[in-house]
Amino acid sequence: MSKEVVLSGIRPTGLLHLGNYFGAMRNYVRMQDEYDCYFFVANWHSLTTHPDTKELQSSVYRVIAENMACGLDPNKVALYIQSDVPEIAELYLYLNMLAYKGELEKTTSFKDKARSQPDNINAGLLTYPVLQAADILIHRAVKVPVGKDQEQNLEMARNFAERFNYRYGDTFPLPYAFNYNSELVKIMGLDGNGKMSKSENQMSTLYLADDDDTIRKKIMKAKTDSGPTETNAAKPDYIENLFTLLKIASDAAVVKKFEDDFNNCQVRYGDMKKQLADDMIRFIQPIRERAAAIQADKALLAKVIKQGAEKARTSADATLQLVRKAIGMNYM
Ligand code: AMP
Repeated sequence: MSKEVVLSGIRPTGLLHLGNYFGAMRNYVRMQDEYDCYFFVANWHSLTTHPDTKELQSSVYRVIAENMACGLDPNKVALYIQSDVPEIAELYLYLNMLAYKGELEKTTSFKDKARSQPDNINAGLLTYPVLQAADILIHRAVKVPVGKDQEQNLEMARNFAERFNYRYGDTFPLPYAFNYNSELVKIMGLDGNGKMSKSENQMSTLYLADDDDTIRKKIMKAKTDSGPTETNAAKPDYIENLFTLLKIASDAAVVKKFEDDFNNCQVRYGDMKKQLADDMIRFIQPIRERAAAIQADKALLAKVIKQGAEKARTSADATLQLVRKAIGMNYM
């Protein structure tokens, strides 16, 4: 039986962080043995915010290196750059004919961006969910490992796929957001506000490139309170977030100790943060060092990128043949 197809992407708009790790990369690494995986760097998507393109270029290399440093094996998956697969742009064009202005204007990501960059509300920003649908549908992917922030865009991808299938005949399976746990993940900032993010909230976000001192400083400043006053109390979301981080970085026995302390109203957040900082440094340090070594190895990066583009284009071309046939755009 052929394996299910998985697709996911990360924008090269800044440093990768623990939110990306939890929402995306950790799942990628687990999925690479079980599924037919396509993971890409979404550099076209980044152009909607008009970044400095020199920085964009080095950021693309860094995203590839950081994914490999987290355990992604380019021999097992297709690890590629979006702009190396022009087939995606053709599918985007067809899907744009099935996407309506009203629904695009209503998406949360569009409204947020329109608010934060009022002088640059370009058409690419409006049709971002259409390009994202093309990214997914070009490989006829069914599982999309993403964080909770992507739920709405996934729903739109399903809508476009359904519309295409209805109008031109069954071509696409419907894609769904995926996480190994039943819930999609959102890692909050350490200040208890918003989410960890590549560009905003930087002092409250733990980046995979942070040095040991920075990790410790950020964690020691994380928001806590005076602790629970009742046994087995519900955890406030910023405390839950610290426990979530503890679960990736620390041993099960350590997590249990602090869980028990919390439930017995004996938790000392200063000690917990010290422990978290030590363990997080141990977790991030090897990833940071591996990523730096890969980034310095230009020949390796070039090989990985070429191999990824070839794998992705083979799959993308097969889908485009079906799409053109379904629409009647096959003349030769
Ligand atoms: P982005 O950083 O927006 O390019 O997102 C890349 C991937 O990381 C997507 O799957 C997001 O859902 C996920 N992601 C980004 N930030 C977070 C966060 N704070 N918590 C959980 N997942 C996240």
